[in-house]
Amino acid sequence: MSFSGLLLSWYRRAQRDLPWRRTSDPYRIWISEIMLQQTRAAAVIPYYERFLEKYPTVAALAAAPEEEVLALWAGLGYYSRARNLRLAARQIAGAGGFPRTAGELRALPGVGDYTAAAIASIAFGEPCVVVDGNVLRVVARVGNDAADIGSAHTRERFRQAAQEWLDPRRPGLFNQALMELGATVCLPRNPLCLLCPVRDLCAGRAAGTAAQLPVKLRRSEPVRIAAALLVIRHAGRVLLRRRAESERRMAGFWDLPSPEDLPSSRTKRRLGEVRHTITHHHYTFTVWEAVVGRVEGNDYAWFDAQGCAGIPLSTTARKALKLADFALR
Ligand code: SF4
Repeated sequence: MSFSGLLLSWYRRAQRDLPWRRTSDPYRIWISEIMLQQTRAAAVIPYYERFLEKYPTVAALAAAPEEEVLALWAGLGYYSRARNLRLAARQIAGAGGFPRTAGELRALPGVGDYTAAAIASIAFGEPCVVVDGNVLRVVARVGNDAADIGSAHTRERFRQAAQEWLDPRRPGLFNQALMELGATVCLPRNPLCLLCPVRDLCAGRAAGTAAQLPVKLRRSEPVRIAAALLVIRHAGRVLLRRRAESERRMAGFWDLPSPEDLPSSRTKRRLGEVRHTITHHHYTFTVWEAVVGRVEGNDYAWFDAQGCAGIPLSTTARKALKLADFALR
């Protein structure tokens, strides 16, 4: 049997029941694909369900205020995804219909080659293969190919190899099956080759090299950054600072202030540390209980626990407030 034949018959038996697999609505598939970028399926499910309950259509999302969308996204990380979703929804609503081809989808903010191919193939049947880290891993292993997947040339070569496997009659199903294989069987460290539907076609398995593939040459060393956050309370409320436009990725989010933000503050007690990682930047924040005199400026406000539930609150602030026993809802 061919690669796609083996893969599809396995997928029909073994696929996980995920909410976005029960729909062919391009809007719902788009939301799921954006949420699944950088985030595991199990973590996405509650966000996906809440998001679609609040915004069941493109028009509803297009009409939503940015701060409300960010608040619903809080905790999922990579907030530019939420901003771009809203901007793209406005674009789609303005155009009067959902784009139907990968090329048109690619023009939406926040939609790259992978997401465009996923939506076009699953919702509209366009025969274009998806390529993400899971797919690159499967291609490298099946072909026993040790080329560096950090190189654009290798990624394009691997894309062409996967495109040749694709079943043009069922591109959406094929793509989902290939992603599922990478996510559940052809695992990064310990590929489960005995359970794999394409094991007899896999040169990496035959050569015993599968677990060392794919090869990705390291380009950037991890950067470690130490900083401090202040928990300043008054009458059951906590002082938060709204991130400025210049803070790009986090613009509009509310966060705990740092000692540099409030030079007149005084630390009283060390509450502990929180860690946060964004790509290769590893932050360690020391969290202090602190006091401050008068605070000026529109970027500062006091919030109680209920107020915190209605604003986009940064993940580090959430972690630090938990450390301070400030009961968030
Ligand atoms: Fe991956 Fe093993 Fe399957 Fe090859 S046989 S595709 S290495 S799980």
